[in-house]
Amino acid sequence: MPQDGDLAGELRLRDGHMRALTDLRLSVTDRCNYKCVYCRTGNDGAQFSELPIEDYARILRVFVSLGIEKIRLTGGEPLLRNGLLDLVRETAKLRPAFSSEPLDIAITTNGHLLAGLAKPLKEAGLSRITISMDAVDPETFTRITRVPGGFQKVRDGIRAAQDAGLGPVKINCVLLRGFNDTQIEAFAEFSRREQVIVRFIEFMPLEEDRTWSPETVVPMKEIVERLNRVRPLVALAPNHVSETARRFTFDDGLGEIGIIAPVSEPFCGHCSRVRLTSDGKLRTCLFSQSDHDLIGLMYRGASDDEMSSWIRQIVQHKEARHHIGEPGFLKPSRSMVHIGG
Ligand code: SAM
Repeated sequence: MPQDGDLAGELRLRDGHMRALTDLRLSVTDRCNYKCVYCRTGNDGAQFSELPIEDYARILRVFVSLGIEKIRLTGGEPLLRNGLLDLVRETAKLRPAFSSEPLDIAITTNGHLLAGLAKPLKEAGLSRITISMDAVDPETFTRITRVPGGFQKVRDGIRAAQDAGLGPVKINCVLLRGFNDTQIEAFAEFSRREQVIVRFIEFMPLEEDRTWSPETVVPMKEIVERLNRVRPLVALAPNHVSETARRFTFDDGLGEIGIIAPVSEPFCGHCSRVRLTSDGKLRTCLFSQSDHDLIGLMYRGASDDEMSSWIRQIVQHKEARHHIGEPGFLKPSRSMVHIGG
């Protein structure tokens, strides 16, 4: 039964497991200017799949009318996308259907182009930013991104985001054994010194090629043990029931660390997410075996109401959970390149 217990509770978008779906991740392009070893092969084809910005804007409007309260723009690399500022501007005009809070609009970016875009994004209505940065030393950083010269650009991007008022900036670091697991302690210092929230993410089997194996994952338990040796950790309360990160600070209150452990401690029970791929497919789980052709429906002339009813039906079949690490686990039908993180 809906937990809100009122009309809004009955009307808001829910899946077949009665989870309220309040969080939409939209991939605005599958192009990227980095070739991170845990994500892409780097052998991009000539064809990219992107929709016109107005089409994404319409789809976002429909989702917000259904109860979406948080929108995260992602990719590919979203800052490569022409028209991104227009999309943020249009999205910022929307009001959540069942909440008096403003719509939360976030971006996940590699930060390479952020120095010049942080201020315009803030002015367009962006609420928050997450910057992916997998090492605090330039050499390891380049070994992972496989593009020279990025490290300083990302550091400048972080500064620019802070100066533009997009703080507290979150830094995402996917830990890969043998690549950047040496960076854990340095990231703790980085969080304390730069006043950013560092979030370590367990590597998931979503890469384009086949680099994932259970041994490449650095589990939450190990991350916690190592951080505790830097300084004793103190657990922080979650901001929200569906928050994916376990939050910590250190015993002197300086720095904030989040650990996102989808592999060793899955949090699917509280999943509040749906995704739209850059080519307009609705995806109910990162690990789905198929997508649903929302853009096809829209291009065949569906009204907003028809799109809404269709979405309500599709999300009834949202997966209860993923099965990473279990016998018979199937890699999802598409890699992170197309899904958007
Ligand atoms: N290009 C942008 C960026 O670098 O943040 C947005 C897209 S990227 C796919 C979004 C997030 O997903 C990044 O923080 C990235 O590190 C994370 N990611 C990509 N592949 C992953 C994987 N196999 N396991 C865990 N996280 C992954």
